[in-house]
Amino acid sequence: MSVFDHTEFDQHESVHYFHDNATGLQAIVAVHSTALGPGAGGTRRWVYRNDADALTDVLRLSRGMTYKNAVAGLKFGGGKAVILASDDAPKSPKLFRAFGRCVNSLSGCYVTAEDVGCSVEDMRFVREETEFVSGLPQTGNSAGGDPSPWTALGCLQGIEAAVAVRLGADSLQGIRVAVQGVGHVGLHLCRLLHEAGAELFVSDVNSDNLQATLAEVPATVVPPQDLIFADVDVLAPCALGNILTSTTIPRIKASIIAGAANNQLSTLADGARLAERDILYAPDYVINAGGIISVAAEYYGSTSEDEVRADVGRIKDRLKRIFTQARESGRPTNELADELARKLVAAGR
Ligand code: NAD
Repeated sequence: MSVFDHTEFDQHESVHYFHDNATGLQAIVAVHSTALGPGAGGTRRWVYRNDADALTDVLRLSRGMTYKNAVAGLKFGGGKAVILASDDAPKSPKLFRAFGRCVNSLSGCYVTAEDVGCSVEDMRFVREETEFVSGLPQTGNSAGGDPSPWTALGCLQGIEAAVAVRLGADSLQGIRVAVQGVGHVGLHLCRLLHEAGAELFVSDVNSDNLQATLAEVPATVVPPQDLIFADVDVLAPCALGNILTSTTIPRIKASIIAGAANNQLSTLADGARLAERDILYAPDYVINAGGIISVAAEYYGSTSEDEVRADVGRIKDRLKRIFTQARESGRPTNELADELARKLVAAGR
């Protein structure tokens, strides 16, 4: 399978394939850019149909991390890792130690943390083999720990910004929000939305996660295949990417899309499709930067939790600027965000 001719290859600096015989570990790390610092981004452990699908995911996700880190003003470039989950390579301390050795072999050009399918616990085992990891258990008042509550907080504030701009509402009281995926980020987001007075609609393919959410917040359960077409004000994708396509966009009823999932747009043109339908789209890597802001603060070790909170709070203003620019220029929000990110990376280079 060709990497250089791959449609998602975007001048990535390096792509690394790893295999560990003892644990069955199969992993791919893609470093998209180190122009602004080490390529940083979480590790996703997922069942892929094959390694071609895993490569596609890691190429897209690592480029997204370059853009996310640049727009968030972090001293990080963009990278990402995927671990191909399978019965032959079950989750275990040994597997994550083996993965830690893979990360370590890259000598710091890639810094990892947790993403879908991985936890703070898993990162502790990675840390036994490498210092190039963040998202470890928090100590005292220092930054660190599970990044997902910070991601959820940034999303909540991004939803508030979008609701103000698109619906002219100054609170989330009575705003109907559909949350797709109630895992780490989705559950935290549901708690915050409920506290803010929003009416919740939720779906998840994992019934344990769904029940855990319903035990904490009142919400209407929607079948997974229907959730993105729910009759709501805001759609908050918090599961996987590739959900906004030429097929799904015409059927979406929400006038705002603002959530944590990476790579929500299937293609760049889908951003324009949303704009044509007057659906306000919060670019995913701008609204979901809360977690990596916490990860960066922990990694560089000089920031308190209060400073992380203040930094996450800046996501709202960044989004407001993009929304205003989009209204004034008539251009899709995703194009404006990409343009900003590319400028920042070029300046760093
Ligand atoms: P997670 O694995 O904890 O949660 C994802 C949830 O989505 C799971 O409960 C899963 O069962 C569910 N899901 C999967 N497919 C679904 C479908 N078709 N319909 C409904 N539910 C479905 O992951 P997470 O850490 O909460 O991350 C969620 C998304 O946010 C991911 O795209 C991730 O890359 C992105 N993100 C996460 C963070 C973070 O801090 N964790 C930061 C930035 C971006």
